Amino acid sequence: MTARRKLVVGNWKMHGSRTANAELLRGIVAAEPFAAEMAVCAPFPYLADVAAAAAGKAIAYGAQDCSAHEQGAYTGEVSAAMLADLGCRFVIVGHSERRALHRESDGLVAEKAKAALAHGLVPIVCVGETLLQREHAQTEIVVQRQLAAVLALLGERACEIVVAYEPVWAIGTGRTATPEQAQAVHGVLRAQLQSATGHGAQMRILYGGSVKPDNAATLFAQLDIDGGLIGGAALKAADFVAIGRAAG
Ligand code: PEP
Repeated sequence: MTARRKLVVGNWKMHGSRTANAELLRGIVAAEPFAAEMAVCAPFPYLADVAAAAAGKAIAYGAQDCSAHEQGAYTGEVSAAMLADLGCRFVIVGHSERRALHRESDGLVAEKAKAALAHGLVPIVCVGETLLQREHAQTEIVVQRQLAAVLALLGERACEIVVAYEPVWAIGTGRTATPEQAQAVHGVLRAQLQSATGHGAQMRILYGGSVKPDNAATLFAQLDIDGGLIGGAALKAADFVAIGRAAG
């Protein structure tokens, strides 16, 4: 028996417009209530609109990145304090697109998670291997290394994070990890969380990578999969709602 409530988070990436977002959110909140906790991570400029649309609703929201710095001369960056000021609950850190395209290191991802926690946000820490790493049997080593950096820096507060296992080869490719492949990695991550924090059984580990309405239920039925981080399918209200239902 676990007390983990499922969590389904939409990662809108760099998509949307004020009009499209309003319609998307209308479609999601119209489907409330959900048994699972539901959230959307929107681009920075739209967070205030999302906050207004989510007011009085059960849907939470957050951002897709934050600065590791507190404040200051960091042109273009957005601090965790600013996100908290806008009512964000979550912030994604270490998404593979940021690791790859912006060369974010394990250490920087850990600093971002620390900044998020310091301002009352829940960091969703993404880990995942590339196809080449999987083919070389490096999956466990890679995800454990990525997670270890965060756990070491956060110390006692590490039990407050959410982890998202997102195999890079499954993101936006239509190629989903099988439930067995995903569960195997989630089991490894949970053991690591347990040994580092002593609270592994209570912590949520999401799966991300081409989750769709037709594969969500089987993935979410796995012992250590506590919901999903959803990219493409989070941009259509009907699909996101269906995935949310699959988690309930
Ligand atoms: C993601 O961007 O985190 C993601 C999982 O994308 P997709 O669902 O499109 O694979």
